[in-house]
Amino acid sequence: MRVALDELKKHTKSSGCRELRITRLACELGLFACVEEETLKGCFELLAEDTAAAGAGLVFSRKPLPCACQDCGHNFDLAQKKFVCPECGGANLRFSGGSGIALTQIRVEERPKES
Ligand SMILES: [Zn+2]
Repeated sequence: MRVALDELKKHTKSSGCRELRITRLACELGLFACVEEETLKGCFELLAEDTAAAGAGLVFSRKPLPCACQDCGHNFDLAQKKFVCPECGGANLRFSGGSGIALTQIRVEERPKES
C-alpha cells in the first residue's frame, strides 16, 4: 500500500513538467493486494494535489496469479481467491507473488497554453 503510493508519488513528481498533465494512470493489483480500490483512489487524490497528476483518472485491473498444482503438475492462472486446481481439484498449489501493486500505464497530455 505505502510502496504503491510512494511509487505513484515519484511518478507524478518526476513528470511534473508544467506543460504536461497526467490524465490517466493504470494500476495492476495483485490477487492478494489487500487494498480497497476506493481507498487507493482517495489517497491518490490527496497525493496528486498540486502535481501534474491532479485530476488524473485512476484505473485498476486485477492481475491473475500464476499457479502450479503440486498434485498433477497443471499450470494455470488463478483469477479468484479459490485455491483449487481446475484439473484435479487438488488444493496443493504453489504460487508466488500476487500481493504487489504495479503502475502499468501513464497517459500524459499537453496542457493547452494559457493565453
Ligand atoms: Zn491438479
